[in-house]
Amino acid sequence: MSRYERIAGLETHIELSTRTKIFCGCTTAFGGQPNTHCCPVCTGQPGALPRLNREVVKLAVQAGLATGCTIHRESRMDRKHYHYPDLPRAYQITQYDTPLCTQGQITLSNGRIIRIDRIHIEEDAGKSIHQEGRVLVDYNRSGVPLIEVVTAPDFRSAEEMREYLEILQRLMRAIGVSDCRMQEGSLRCDVNLSVRQVESDAMPTRTEIKNMNSFSNMVKAVNYEWERQIALLEQGEPVVQETRRYDESTHTTQPMRDKENSRDYRYFREPDLTAVIITDEEIAAWRAALPELPEARMARYIRSGLPSADAELLVKFRRVAEYFDEVSVGVSPRTAANFVLGPVFARMTDADKEEGTFPLPAEHLRELTALVEGGRLSKNLAKTTLERMMDEGKRVTDLLSAEDMAGVDDATLQAICQQVVENDPKSVADYQGGKEKAMRSLIGGVMRATRGKADPQQAEQMLREMLSI
Ligand code: ZN
Ligand code: MN
Repeated sequence: MSRYERIAGLETHIELSTRTKIFCGCTTAFGGQPNTHCCPVCTGQPGALPRLNREVVKLAVQAGLATGCTIHRESRMDRKHYHYPDLPRAYQITQYDTPLCTQGQITLSNGRIIRIDRIHIEEDAGKSIHQEGRVLVDYNRSGVPLIEVVTAPDFRSAEEMREYLEILQRLMRAIGVSDCRMQEGSLRCDVNLSVRQVESDAMPTRTEIKNMNSFSNMVKAVNYEWERQIALLEQGEPVVQETRRYDESTHTTQPMRDKENSRDYRYFREPDLTAVIITDEEIAAWRAALPELPEARMARYIRSGLPSADAELLVKFRRVAEYFDEVSVGVSPRTAANFVLGPVFARMTDADKEEGTFPLPAEHLRELTALVEGGRLSKNLAKTTLERMMDEGKRVTDLLSAEDMAGVDDATLQAICQQVVENDPKSVADYQGGKEKAMRSLIGGVMRATRGKADPQQAEQMLREMLSI
């Protein structure tokens, strides 16, 4: 059997988080009673004229800047025709040969660069709902602004595609361009797939899988489709260029039954809209308004001493990163990260992280972290206190006395260690006889004697020195 190279490119549609639609003043809010967020413009009534929402241009340019794209000072809108009940004008207003942004890129953790060919703006269609043999249409989504991010065919595995989407999602959330919720359809992907024999430079035939709505389905669909194409080539059969869909019940891809495959979109310029012109001043202002990007933030955390896995968890949600920045002012990021990623995260769902709902204020966690850092509170006592702070909504100073927070000074700790050693000759003999476990019980003795205030690591160090032969 020959060896094959698996090739893929992604087209990602992302709903922009503007308050109003791209060509009218209707709300973009998700949900609502069917056909209540509409007007003559977004339902395509004769004579209704579109007017471009400038906020859409701003967010699309910011998405382009965050992915290193060239931003074009002049671009145009085009009509793309197809006949579907969810598209009332029978054409979509999009950008064809003059996209707003081109030539960006995203770098994966394996060092491979995924080229972004273009980012353009367009309108979303309505939603068809198939019910008891009838098709109902809800136009609330019609006219919601989208960007379409198109990559070059640079992917070589489904895992690379998943990572790219995670980075893209994180980036778009961080700059506030979109909430990128796959389950609500505010991030949707089409995948182009082909295979070719290794070391062949033939242009392989590709198929397209439309509307992947979860990472896990995308990975399954992509792997199934690549293997299907390889099996065909192995049998000497051609791969047919077509659009397919993923069937969740059979875990296979199936050809779409409509005429999608031989479609002629008859693109032409949208005569009802003028060119999109952007000034250098606008680009400069929009760039200046961008927050610190996740990659830069992650690099900053790693430089400050955090393991990269921890840094990655902290930048996944912008609100979490902002919270962490507040907690770690003036204290070691490592201690702060241990609290945030451990006990604080244990009480949070992904939705909490996205919305920034934390079990305690950053200020309160910083107070606790500073006490630990100053050696005034043992890690053990800090942990149980943190749980109580979250349960009772109190500050550390409400829960602990001055005495509790005084810590244990070196001389006192030394004296207590001495006492514990004298009172427990059996553990001492065991330890000196090579039983490591005995050290645990000696440390336990010190912790009991100090009511948890001693730092167990410091106690261990003192005990080991005391008992070294
Ligand atoms: Zn409208
Ligand atoms: Mn599109």
